[in-house]
Amino acid sequence: MSLLKVGMIGWRGMVGSVLLDRMREEKDFALIEPVFFSTSNVGGQAPAEANGAALLDAKDISHLRLMDVIITCQGGDYTTEIHPQLRAVGWGGYWIDAAKTLRMKEDAVIILDPVNMPAIKNALAAGVKDFIGGNCTVSCMLMGLAGLFKADLIEWMTCMTYQAASGGGATHMRELLLQFGLLHAEVSVLLDDPHAAILEIDRKILARQRALSADETQYFGVPLAGNLIPWIDKDMTAMGQPGMSLEEWKGMAETNKILGRGDGFAKPATPIDSLCVRVGAMRCHSQALTIKLTRDVPLAEIEAIIANDNTWVRVIPNERERSIRELTPAAVTGSMQIPVGRLRKLAMGSQYLSAFTVGDQLLWGAAEPLRRMLRIVVEK
Ligand code: NAP
Repeated sequence: MSLLKVGMIGWRGMVGSVLLDRMREEKDFALIEPVFFSTSNVGGQAPAEANGAALLDAKDISHLRLMDVIITCQGGDYTTEIHPQLRAVGWGGYWIDAAKTLRMKEDAVIILDPVNMPAIKNALAAGVKDFIGGNCTVSCMLMGLAGLFKADLIEWMTCMTYQAASGGGATHMRELLLQFGLLHAEVSVLLDDPHAAILEIDRKILARQRALSADETQYFGVPLAGNLIPWIDKDMTAMGQPGMSLEEWKGMAETNKILGRGDGFAKPATPIDSLCVRVGAMRCHSQALTIKLTRDVPLAEIEAIIANDNTWVRVIPNERERSIRELTPAAVTGSMQIPVGRLRKLAMGSQYLSAFTVGDQLLWGAAEPLRRMLRIVVEK
């Protein structure tokens, strides 16, 4: 049996690099015939899995249409430009994508198979060809809380997020580090002197942050090092959602689509409201959750429901030492595990639950659902 030809697009970026690493770890390349494309280095050297073949042009429809499957981590503009052209020439292959462009389309499925495998299987059987990875914050949250959703225990929820620089891609991570370096350089002499006045250090840091040039804030627009940014992505006011960012809108829209709730589904939508904040972490999105339960369930039972949902979720006891060691981006980066902790009932009543979760948004929030979807297609 011949192997499926799989076009790899955007493999050099942040999500794409993590995807290649995971595919190598899981020996996925042995199951496919990979073909590597580029938007910036056509004819250049492809990864070793290309067996010496040069990079093809990621915008050349005549090459793309020969693929059985295309996996793209190139970004939304690429999808907007290329996907309609490919479908217009009658290409009937599987399109597996990390970008948001097609997520909410009626004939596309948002993929997160530990949570919605039945929906993925039904869609495949019905001939659906577009399978799109979800928003990173949504996917990480659902991997942690799927047990509570499946048990219909969530009446509503708020998510206060703390999202890493890498959510913006490779360029944003570099900018954060550049800014940290500039700030450190500004006060390194004072830091070497244990008697230097802390207010002098503080004043210099603030002055340097405020003096960062347009080049030094090219991607975030404002300083992120030593700062936070309480708005992520576009303003949805013109789309009828006043005062809401696109990242916040996705929290409710995508979660409900993945769970098969809301418009077009049998179950009503679960209200989810978010306030999304960019922080100076490199990788991993963290979120503080307030949950109104549909009924009063003892905390121990809630912990068991969360812990038993899937192989990757891990309940962290609500203790100081465990929390500061195991519920942080530095602890979770590079790990497939999704820790959920700080679980306790709130002062508002026994149906109100607090939780905190951290997930490597480049793994479960981006690359992992894509490679698992490729496996599902290959093993179909
Ligand atoms: P990215 O790091 O900016 O990479 C996207 C493309 O940018 C690369 O494929 C590469 O294309 C080009 N590029 C330009 N300068 C680069 C550099 N210095 N290093 C590496 N690549 C560079 O974007 P991303 O974060 O991977 O995101 C890709 C898609 O996934 C987006 O649609 C994003 O919204 C989505 N997504 C991202 C995350 C996340 O946490 N970052 C999570 C979920 C979904 P060429 O090689 O062709 O030049």
